[in-house]
Amino acid sequence: MRCKVARPTKYIFVTGGVLSGLGKGITAASIANTLKARGLSVNIQKCDPYLNVDAGTLNPREHGECFVTKDGAETDLDLGHYERFLDQELTQASSLMSGRVLLKVIEDERAGKYEGQSVQIVPHVMAVIQDYIRAAAEGFDVHIVEIGGTVGDLESQSFLEAIREFGLRIGLENCLYVHVVYMPYLGASNEVKTKPAQNAVRDLRGMGIAPDILVARTEQPAPESIKRKLALFCGVSEEAIALLPNAPTIYQVPLTLEDSGLSSVICKRLGLEEVQQPDFSEWRELVASAVNHQDKKVRVGVVAKYLDNLDTYMSVFEALRSAAWANDTGIAITWIDAEKLESPEDAQEALKEVDGIVVPGGFGTRGIEGKICAAQYALKSRFPFLGICLGLQMGVIAAARNYGITDATTAEVDASGKNVVINTMADQHGKENTGGTMRLGDYPCVIAPDSLIAKLYGQTDIIERHRHRYECSNAYRDQYESWGIRPAGLSPDGHLIEMIEAIDHPFFVASQFHPEFKSRPNRPHPMFDGFIKSLLP
Ligand code: GLN
Repeated sequence: MRCKVARPTKYIFVTGGVLSGLGKGITAASIANTLKARGLSVNIQKCDPYLNVDAGTLNPREHGECFVTKDGAETDLDLGHYERFLDQELTQASSLMSGRVLLKVIEDERAGKYEGQSVQIVPHVMAVIQDYIRAAAEGFDVHIVEIGGTVGDLESQSFLEAIREFGLRIGLENCLYVHVVYMPYLGASNEVKTKPAQNAVRDLRGMGIAPDILVARTEQPAPESIKRKLALFCGVSEEAIALLPNAPTIYQVPLTLEDSGLSSVICKRLGLEEVQQPDFSEWRELVASAVNHQDKKVRVGVVAKYLDNLDTYMSVFEALRSAAWANDTGIAITWIDAEKLESPEDAQEALKEVDGIVVPGGFGTRGIEGKICAAQYALKSRFPFLGICLGLQMGVIAAARNYGITDATTAEVDASGKNVVINTMADQHGKENTGGTMRLGDYPCVIAPDSLIAKLYGQTDIIERHRHRYECSNAYRDQYESWGIRPAGLSPDGHLIEMIEAIDHPFFVASQFHPEFKSRPNRPHPMFDGFIKSLLP
């Protein structure tokens, strides 16, 4: 929702101290949530100190999922939290990595735009960062900027200096600095300690930024009285300190911030009139259903090559969870190691403990055979299957192999094979190792009206987000029916197969796009909703 009355955008900068992994992204997203609930239009942006230009080239095993926006930006997984908490589709403007900033400065230098000046961090890099921040903020009542990393990291210094200057330029009455810190618990003295937080505030002050608000993370609830101590030693008023103990679900965080009065303090300090009374009843219901369904559970197996970092499939997990909650059930998600499955029989054994499987997106050759075996078993045994992107491609190969084309493969593994049922897309040849070149972002899809998928969506014209280089080869499309599957969703020109489903199967559905990116905690995506429904007794 864009604001109609012209009033200056207010800025909230979120930094972190003491440790990484404190949930700064969730905190920023939660602040956004509580302000939007007051009728304010809010945008949010992450400034990431990595020298990558975008997150597309980062290894998801190390860095977590690559979240794709509607306009095809490959971004950090925090953007997924932002979209889910804010219930708003974001764009490239919401993700700024140092590499993008430096690339712009260097391109401008090469193009002669600096007219002979020596190009420097101050003012030139600063100006580029500030331009990107201002551009993302335009038209919104509030713009929230999260600075990745921890204050004191060499890499994040440019961003910190840029937001310090920015605050001075727009006037400190138009912005707030929120510092997220950690307070450890010391068992020996049975105390929550504030010293690391004090030091982290001092580090931030050392960068010339005085925090207006502190969000203090702890593992266990800390006594309210600790706010007095923090206030005294950190120079932040007590009303502007929120205590944030570990929550049973991340969706609790907006409510904790709201209940601590923080959002009202933010509005008061920024001179924002709250356009409407916030109503958190729906959000409270969501949190209740997230924590209340621990006894009853559907069991979902995720067939993937690595799940040692749960962040790798963040949006898939969130979509599964919210679909379970909406269907009044809990969920247990287990990892089925794709590299351990060597035959459909192995898959049958491994799948005994689950009610249905998801084959999520993925790249490269590792674990591919195991995913195909799992899909072969799911097809043959009418076992619930949800395939996403690579999962669709594996589903097609599995159907071909079950039919007897035992050498069916994908160009990602063997481009010169005899039966390459998954091809390199025409415009993707030679781009295999380059950033930002896949088929990315929103594309329309037309669903066959008589399909199960049409029933799930309740409509036949949809738009979904993509991230892939390979596609179903049209040379085999006529054979699908004899393989037991059908193309149930096509690009509007009919050229690309975007969705398949199995014929005569309770639930074998797959998409070339990533439905998980558009799922919302309180509005699960229809494909996930249908999948979870198929698992219920
Ligand atoms: N590797 C496959 C492709 O590029 C699938 C991509 C994905 O799962 N996101 O088409």
